[in-house]
Amino acid sequence: MMRTNSAASAASTRGCDGETTSAVWHSKNDMTRILCIETTCDETAAAVVGDGPTVLGEVVATQDALHQRFGGVVPEIASRAHLERILPVIDEALRRAQLRLDEIDAVAVANTPGLAGSLLVGLVAAKTLCVACGKPLIAVNHLQAHIYACRIAAGREVFPCVGLIVSGGHTSLYRCRNALEFEFLGGTIDDAAGEAFDKVAQMLGLPFPGGPSIQKAAAQGNPRAFSFPRALIDDARLDFSFSGLKTAVRYQLVGPGKPDFSKLDLSPQFVADAAASFQEAVVDCLVAKAMQALRASGLSTLCVGGGVAANARFRERLEDEARKGGFDLVIAPLKLCTDNAVMGAIALERFRAGLVEPLDLDAFPGLLRPKPSAERTT
Ligand code: ADP
Ligand code: MG
Repeated sequence: MMRTNSAASAASTRGCDGETTSAVWHSKNDMTRILCIETTCDETAAAVVGDGPTVLGEVVATQDALHQRFGGVVPEIASRAHLERILPVIDEALRRAQLRLDEIDAVAVANTPGLAGSLLVGLVAAKTLCVACGKPLIAVNHLQAHIYACRIAAGREVFPCVGLIVSGGHTSLYRCRNALEFEFLGGTIDDAAGEAFDKVAQMLGLPFPGGPSIQKAAAQGNPRAFSFPRALIDDARLDFSFSGLKTAVRYQLVGPGKPDFSKLDLSPQFVADAAASFQEAVVDCLVAKAMQALRASGLSTLCVGGGVAANARFRERLEDEARKGGFDLVIAPLKLCTDNAVMGAIALERFRAGLVEPLDLDAFPGLLRPKPSAERTT
């Protein structure tokens, strides 16, 4: 690996909340290959990606079974599980790519947003490999990577576009000028859509993660059985709110007080109807705001990523509305909706732009939730 400043395209910017150095790294062969590491929440994942972008090898070790009995992700369990899995996962990704570490041009790692302990495991692993093998370090913003999953799947340029990320922690709209410039347009002011799926599933006695189990139950239910609120749907702001919806489901199940939801005796048809009505309300809000963002921004392409983008009803409604509005729609394929390292291929774009990080790169945990529209000046 040779570091050189000779290329004219060297760039310097702040990337992923860290100081980024200005440098250009050349691949020693025609194809740039990057090892991407993802440990932001509860999936330990690694992938080797190349120009195209192409996927040369990938692994996702899910932790669903470890968190299931708690009905949500337990941060300490997640970081401990990452520690156990990170090295075998990286080894396996390289083995599947049939590459050795010295044949990789850079190591990329998602350093924001996410759980502190989880992010640190991936970050330390990436830095260690960089030091040991003399490779440059690339920072990946996990939310931007969710949108980049659409670019990978489309196999063509998707920028500029409106990006909608709907995950367990985030529900956010961005104006994505290119793979490096994302401008926040709006987002949830309370719960994320995925979080609402998980919490409502728990109330209904459905297994974790809630999204897939609500979708399954909803298939037998009537989406008009209950009329749940669609917060902010007629509001000019590009923001979302799901906590009122979650509370409305809760009061549909049982009266005030602190009920033990595990002891509720709900009939399968009630559960199916509540799941279908809840799902329809979330989908209505998500689809309406995505269309509103397209009209307000004047952009014609919509890219949708994140775990909730795996929802079949959501995908169906997005397709209908995009067709009616004449918009170009790219939804991440099912495999790239929930957390994975393949979407870290956004690092190829940063690498090409010379956006290499110093080895004191930090993790920036928590949620990326800029101020709601009402408090923004622009
Ligand atoms: P995060 O990065 O915040 O951990 P992910 O992008 O991994 O989130 O997505 C996980 C979320 O996606 C969970 O809240 C889960 O319930 C939700 N989810 C997964 N599949 C579906 C589905 N089919 N329908 C709705 N939500 C889903
Ligand atoms: Mg995610």
